[in-house]
Amino acid sequence: MKILVVNCGSSSVKYALFEMEKEKKIAWGLIECIGLPEAFYRRQTVKSDEKKESVKIANHTEAVELMIEELLDEKSGSILNIKEIAVVGHRVVHGGDKFFETVLVNDKVKEDLKNSFSIAPLHNPAHYAGIIAIEKMLPSIPSVLVFDTAFYHTMPDYAYVYALPYEFYEKDHIRKYGFHGTSHNYVSQKAAKMLKKSLNEVNLITAHLGNGSSITAIEKGNVIDTSMGFTPLEGVIMGTRCGSIDPAIIAYLLDKYPTYKDSSVLNDMLNKKSGLAGISGLSGDMRTIVQAVNDGNRKAMLAFEMFIYSIKRYIGAYYGILNGIDALIFTAGIGENSAFIREAVCKNFCALGIEIDKEKNYEHCTYERFISTKNSRVKVMIIPTNEELMIAREAKKRLTSK
Ligand code: ADP
Repeated sequence: MKILVVNCGSSSVKYALFEMEKEKKIAWGLIECIGLPEAFYRRQTVKSDEKKESVKIANHTEAVELMIEELLDEKSGSILNIKEIAVVGHRVVHGGDKFFETVLVNDKVKEDLKNSFSIAPLHNPAHYAGIIAIEKMLPSIPSVLVFDTAFYHTMPDYAYVYALPYEFYEKDHIRKYGFHGTSHNYVSQKAAKMLKKSLNEVNLITAHLGNGSSITAIEKGNVIDTSMGFTPLEGVIMGTRCGSIDPAIIAYLLDKYPTYKDSSVLNDMLNKKSGLAGISGLSGDMRTIVQAVNDGNRKAMLAFEMFIYSIKRYIGAYYGILNGIDALIFTAGIGENSAFIREAVCKNFCALGIEIDKEKNYEHCTYERFISTKNSRVKVMIIPTNEELMIAREAKKRLTSK
C-alpha cells in the first residue's frame, strides 16, 4: 500500500510517498515560494539523487499538479498510475474544538475546517487550499486529515481551561489545544518500544525542541499537559516566539505603543521578533546562538540560559505532576542534534533521577538511542521525530477502519 503525505503551507507544498509494507519513504519533495515570481522545487526518490530547479507556480493546484507529474515521471517516478496511492494524509496544524481524531475528508469536514480559519489563520487556510487542490487532481483517492492537536484529546479540563471568565471557553472555544502532537505521539510510541513496555505502562516527558518547541507530559499513554496552548506561542522560549509571559504586559504595551493596537503588528512582535532572536538581537537559530555563546556574547548567553531554564521548569513541573517518569525524550532539530543543550537541560537534575552519560550524549549519530547513565533512574533518550511516517500510519489506520 502506498500513502502520500502532504503538508501545505501558505506558500509551500511538502510531500512524501510511503510504501507501507516496510514503512519506507520512497519519494519526497518540497515546492516553495508558490505565488511568487520564482518558485523552487526540490525532490528526491530512493532511485534518484536530489533534483532542484526554479519553477513558475501560481497556486497550490499547480504545485500539486507538478508533484503528481513528478511522481509519475517515466524515468525517476515512483508510481505508474495515481491509483497506486491508497490515501492522501494531510497534516493539519489546528483541529480546533471540532477535530480530536484523524478524519476522512467529506463535505462536512471541509466546512468545519473552513470554520476553523479564525482560530488558525496562518495554517488552516493553506491546508484547506491543499485539500481542494488534491481533490481536484486526485478525485478518486480518499484524503484524511491528521491534526497536530488531536494527540491532546486526553488532556483533563483542569489542564486545558484557562482561568478566564468561563464564557470565553464556552462561546469562543479559548482553551489549551497543544501542538506538535504528531511528533510527541511518534516519539512516545517509539520510546515505549525501546523501553520494551507498552505505552500504558510508562510515564514520559517528551521534549520537542526545534524552531518551535514544546514539552508534553504523558501518563500511561494519555497526555496530561503540554506547554503550548491556545496557539503555539505559549510555553518555553522559542527561536522567535516569546513563550509564556505575563498577559498584563500586552495590555501595558497596547496603552503605551498605539502601533500594537493593530493585532497583526502585535502578533508579529510576539511570534517573529521575540524568543532567542528578541533577546540576543542576533538570530532565532540555535546554532548561531550556541556559536555566539562560545564567542562570549553576553546577550546570546542570556537567551541561551533563558531557553534552558524555561525547559527545565516544564520538565520539573511535569515530573511532579506525573509523580515520576520512566523516560525523558529529546527530539526535533535542537533536541536531536545539540548535545550541548541536552547536557545543559539535564544538569543538576540528579535529584529527579536524571543523569546523562557524557560520552553517549556527545556521540555523533542520527538514530534513536539511550543517553542516560546505567544508574540513572530515568532513562534519557534521543528519538529522531518522524511526523510524516506518523501521518502515513494514521492515514492507513483511518482508511482500513473505514
Ligand atoms: P522546525 O521547528 O522548523 O521543524 P527543526 O526541528 O528543524 O525546526 O529545528 C531547527 C532548530 O534546530 C534551529 O534552531 C537549528 O539551529 C537547531 N539545530 C539544528 N542542529 C543543531 C545543532 N547541531 N546545535 C544546535 N542547534 C541545532
